[in-house]
Amino acid sequence: MLKRVLIANRGEIALRIIRACRELDIETVAVYSTADESALHAQLATRSLCIGPARAADSYLNQDALLSAAKATGCDALHPGYGFLSENPDFADRCIKAGLKYIGPSGDVIRRMGSKAAARTLAQQAGVPVVPGSDGPLKGVKQAKQLAEQVGYPVLLKASAGGGGRGMRQVDAPEELEGAYKAAQAEAIACFGNGEMYLEKLVLNPRHIEFQIMADTQGHVVHLGERDCSIQRRRQKLVEESPSKALNPELRAKMGAAAVAAAQAAGYVGAGTVEFVLSPQGEFYFIEMNTRIQVEHPVTELVTGVDLVKEQLRVAAGLPLSFTQEDIHVTGHAIECRINAEDPEQDFRPCPGKTEFLHLPGGPGVRVDTALYGGYEVPPYYDSLVAKVLVHAPTRLEAIRRMRRSLEELVIEGYPTNASLAHLIMHDSEFVKGSYDTGFMDSNLEKLLELSKTCDKLSGGKEQL
Ligand code: ADP
Ligand code: ADP
Ligand code: MG
Repeated sequence: MLKRVLIANRGEIALRIIRACRELDIETVAVYSTADESALHAQLATRSLCIGPARAADSYLNQDALLSAAKATGCDALHPGYGFLSENPDFADRCIKAGLKYIGPSGDVIRRMGSKAAARTLAQQAGVPVVPGSDGPLKGVKQAKQLAEQVGYPVLLKASAGGGGRGMRQVDAPEELEGAYKAAQAEAIACFGNGEMYLEKLVLNPRHIEFQIMADTQGHVVHLGERDCSIQRRRQKLVEESPSKALNPELRAKMGAAAVAAAQAAGYVGAGTVEFVLSPQGEFYFIEMNTRIQVEHPVTELVTGVDLVKEQLRVAAGLPLSFTQEDIHVTGHAIECRINAEDPEQDFRPCPGKTEFLHLPGGPGVRVDTALYGGYEVPPYYDSLVAKVLVHAPTRLEAIRRMRRSLEELVIEGYPTNASLAHLIMHDSEFVKGSYDTGFMDSNLEKLLELSKTCDKLSGGKEQL
C-alpha cells in the first residue's frame, strides 16, 4: 500500500482524502495557503506545510511548490482532489517524473479525455453516441457557422478545455454566432489559457446523467451506476441523486455499457465520470469525461457501499479493484445538496465570512461532508462550496423527506447560503415527481426566490406531497 500521500487540495475534499488515508493507515501531508492557516485540512493531516500566498495561482496551483513539498516530506503519492490541478496532464506527468504515484489516470489519458473536443472523437470511435456537431476543434467562426447550419440552431459553442460551465455559449440564431464565439473563446483563454472551441447541437430539455467509473491497472473497468445532476444553475450542479427517475433497467444497462466503452477506449485508470445528456425521447449522448474524483461522488458511495477514495488509493498502489461489475448493487436512494456561501437574493454573489454558529444535521441516513467548524472564517479566494448535505433512504420519497429535515436541522450563521433554496427545491412538485430536466432552475428560480421571501427561513415551502 501507499505510505504517505500529499494532498494537493483544500476544503471538504482534502478532509475526505485524509479520512480515507487514516482508515487505511496511510500518512497524509496537507498543504495550505497563508489564507488557510486555520483550515481544518491543515489540522487533521499527519503533517502540514504552508506552500504560498492566498491566491490559488501562488499556492494550490503552484506545481513547483507542491512537488518540493512532496519531496521534502518523503511522500510516495499525490492526490489532486477536484478542481485546481486535478485535470492538468502536465502536472500528472511531472508527479510521475518526480517518483510520485499520481492518484488518477496518466497524463496521456488526461490529455486524451481532458480536451473535450478530442474526447468526443474518441467516444465516437468507441461506438458511443455523441451530440451532432463538429469533428474535432473548430477552425474559426466561418466553419462554426457552416456547421451550425448543418446541425440546425440552437447550438452550443464549447471550449475544449472548459469546465465548471465556463467557456460555453448557447447560440439561437446565425447573427448571434460571431459574438458568442468571441465571448466564449475569450472566457476560455482567461480561465483555462486555451481558446480551442468546438460545437454541439443543443439537446432540448435534457437530463444530465453521468456514470461513475472505476478502473484498475489490470484493465478491469466497472461502472457504479448513474447520478442525475439535472438540477443546475448556469450549468453548475446544485442537487444530485441516484438512481435517476429517468432511467429504466434497459436504458441504464445501455448507458452503463457505453460509459465503460468510453473509459476503455481511453485506457482509463482510477476514478472517473462519463457525462451524458439524455433527451426526453430517451436518446443519450456523451458530452465529456471528468478524469478525477467528483464533487458528488458520495451519492454513489451511499447507494453502492463502495468507498471510492479508498478504491482510488488501492488502484494507485497497483492493486486490482476490490469488486467486479456483478458485485455492484444499488440499494435505496441518495440525494446530495451542495451548500454554497452565496446570496441567492443577490444573483448568488459569493458571500464568504466568519461562521458565527454551526449546527450540522445528523441521525439515520445523513452524511455531511464539510470543512466548516464554528468560528471558522471562510476565505474569499476559493470555491464557495462550504458543505455537501447527503441523505440515503430506502425509497426516493423517504430520501426527499430526510433531506428536508436535514436542511431544517442545518444552521450556518454568519453569511447567507443557498440552504433555504435547496429546501424549497425538495418541496417542489416537479422535483418530487422526478420529472425535471436541466431547465428546472431557469424556469423555477423566480418562483422559488419569491416563496423563500414569504416563508419563514427553512420552515415552510408548501407541502406538495
Ligand atoms: P463536478 O461538480 O461535476 O465535480 P465541475 O466541473 O463543476 O465538476 O468542477 C468541480 C469543481 O472544480 C467545482 O467546485 C469547480 O468550481 C471547480 N473547477 C472546475 N474547473 C476548474 C478550474 N479550471 N480551476 C479551478 N477550479 C475548477
Ligand atoms: P463542463 O465541462 O463545464 O462541465 P459540460 O460539457 O459537461 O461542461 O456541460 C455542462 C452542462 O451543460 C451539462 O451538464 C448540461 O446540462 C449542459 N449541456 C452540455 N452539452 C449540452 C448539449 N449538447 N445540449 C444540451 N445541454 C448541454
Ligand atoms: Mg461537465
